[in-house]
Amino acid sequence: MQDLPNLVDPFARAITYLRVSVTDRCDFRCVYCMSENMTFLPKNDLLTLEELDRLCSRFVDLGVRKLRITGGEPLVRKGIMQFFEAMSRHLASGALDELTLTTNGSQLRRFAKPLADCGVRRVNVSLDTLDEQKFRDITRWGRFAQVMDGIDAAQEAGLKVKLNAVALKGTNDDEAHRMVEWCGQRGFDLTFIEVMPMGEDMGDGLRLDQYWDLKDVRRHLETRWTLTDIPYSTGGPARYVRVEETGQKIGFITPLSHNFCESCNRVRLTCTGQLFMCLGQEDEADLRRVLRESGDDRLLDQAIRAAIARKPKGHDFDYSRQTVGGTMTRHMSHTGG
Ligand code: SAM
Ligand code: SF4
Repeated sequence: MQDLPNLVDPFARAITYLRVSVTDRCDFRCVYCMSENMTFLPKNDLLTLEELDRLCSRFVDLGVRKLRITGGEPLVRKGIMQFFEAMSRHLASGALDELTLTTNGSQLRRFAKPLADCGVRRVNVSLDTLDEQKFRDITRWGRFAQVMDGIDAAQEAGLKVKLNAVALKGTNDDEAHRMVEWCGQRGFDLTFIEVMPMGEDMGDGLRLDQYWDLKDVRRHLETRWTLTDIPYSTGGPARYVRVEETGQKIGFITPLSHNFCESCNRVRLTCTGQLFMCLGQEDEADLRRVLRESGDDRLLDQAIRAAIARKPKGHDFDYSRQTVGGTMTRHMSHTGG
């Protein structure tokens, strides 16, 4: 361990949570995330697994306590278990509290047990619908049965599962009650996510009128369930309630609202080694260049500290039902959702 102070940004927020995208590729083509004919990055642009290890380990040494692996679909990255195995040493040493991932679930049958063996305890699975046809409409390429089987595998391996569902008006609004019920039966927490204006070509799959305000989702759920606010927080943009009938938690993630920025504890590393200090700002730090220019970890630490010193107070999204202001030109699959 180093005796340097941990990463703290100009607004006195300790940066303890790193989200890492390990690939921009995916076996699905969700309408709100990718166009059907996505062009992916050349392989050389991606950080190698060794580079990911080196970089993530710098963050851990600098005080990051939680690592979330995402993508694209993290489990389609070739050799990904090698990376999880490498990161598990930070769990074993006590430097890291949690190693986790966000996945579409398609590869969990194969990887749930090895992930659990690496010390992964929880997994977020993105699932917007329990209807097979709708699932195909949303994911374009996804196979519903395969994801269901993946979720079973995760439970069998002892992983705690949380579902993430993007709230889409006209698509899954009629299923919200059923999702709550099903998650209650399965013992899963459930988080609804407000759809965000990401990517330059949202046009072919996502319509703006699919935006479903989570305040309305909550009101809708309250027609059937008793929801009690709870103070639970992960330092992120989710607000949580307990469903009294089932005992499970429901989170509402409104990334476009400002009310969470003051407690923001996270930064995001893209699969090409760019560090984004805020999901809603374009400012980034090119850590790949530093990584590839020198084997000296002190230079990397300096670059990371310099980036954290530029972390903005909050983001600039302005999403007013009819227009999309502050639309980000990068894809969620690149930045890591
Ligand atoms: N492939 C994995 C998955 O789907 O869970 C990990 C990456 S994916 C980009 C992470 C999360 O971002 C998913 O829960 C997905 O639903 C969400 N997401 C993608 N595009 C989004 C958008 N435009 N608005 C809100 N959430 C989005
Ligand atoms: Fe793939 Fe996840 Fe994006 Fe869907 S949301 S296309 S599963 S990266």
